[in-house]
Amino acid sequence: MIIQIQKNATEQEVKKISASVQSMGYSFNNIKTQFARYLICIGKKEIDLREIGFLSGVADVFKVSDAYKLTSTKWKVGKTAVDIGGGIRIGNGEFQIMAGPCSIESEEQIVSTIEHLKANGIKIMRGGVYKPRSSPYSFRGLGMDGLKLWYKLASESNIKIITEVMQVSQIEEMHDYVDIFQVGARNSQNFNLLDELGKVDKPILLKRGMSGTIEELLQSAEYVFSNGNEKIILCERGIRTYETSYRNTMDINAITILKDKSHLPVVADPSHGIGVRKYVDKIALASIMAGADGVIMEVHECPQKAFSDGQQTLDYGQSKDLIDKMGKARELVK
Ligand code: PEP
Ligand code: MN
Repeated sequence: MIIQIQKNATEQEVKKISASVQSMGYSFNNIKTQFARYLICIGKKEIDLREIGFLSGVADVFKVSDAYKLTSTKWKVGKTAVDIGGGIRIGNGEFQIMAGPCSIESEEQIVSTIEHLKANGIKIMRGGVYKPRSSPYSFRGLGMDGLKLWYKLASESNIKIITEVMQVSQIEEMHDYVDIFQVGARNSQNFNLLDELGKVDKPILLKRGMSGTIEELLQSAEYVFSNGNEKIILCERGIRTYETSYRNTMDINAITILKDKSHLPVVADPSHGIGVRKYVDKIALASIMAGADGVIMEVHECPQKAFSDGQQTLDYGQSKDLIDKMGKARELVK
């Protein structure tokens, strides 16, 4: 059960509501986000919701039987649009493309990517400065120096940035240089990291784990929400299956199902989703048909020379072509 607390409710009223809930055999969690206050009540007993609804200080009360609560569609009227800043929003009908290299490599690369994005009306640039790599000998990112330079160049051009945070200790140092924190597939169930990102007032793009179920993704998002941050974007990036003819199995189904089960925006990552450059456009378009609120894709001036994930990275010509096609695809699903 989710109890929404009125904005102007007093502590005394909240205490009374909690006591009533407890007396009905329910335990409760007190949750305060940047936007609202909730009591998440866990219990098995059938109760008449009106008994709670009548209490002073209660704005609304909902029965939510899903394991995830605040991320569920069952209580929220309408869909959530996440505000990225600068008038840029994603979700509830607003679509965004996030494009850029797998890894931030150099000043020239940043400048050239920003030019490509500006020329094509893209407002959010992706790129990693802390890279999770299978081999410790691979390029692992430029770290904070790269991030500071990137942020400076991007903000001068009114471009927002999304980049991966890999551990709790990085949140504070990255905070002022990031517009969206990305949680990668390998950290999708790093609950300590999710707890801490819940205490930050910045959007979080949360990727599905390589072997994570849809429900596990929503429960991970619940960690962020229940710690106080409602600005969450879900991301399908493919899962690992027995198939070996491509990198990951892009679960297009998951996009549709996530959009039904959750009010949060859902973004597709076709680059990691299939992992093969020549197929990325088809999967991006399929994701839009499935209801994606955005696409995050890897783009590089010269993919053959990219420090990471070149095999799935589009060059500027391919990127432009796909951006045009995505515009047309959006018209069909609006
Ligand atoms: C990435 O975005 O470059 C990345 C490492 O993604 P994922 O966590 O989905 O593998
Ligand atoms: Mn990558």
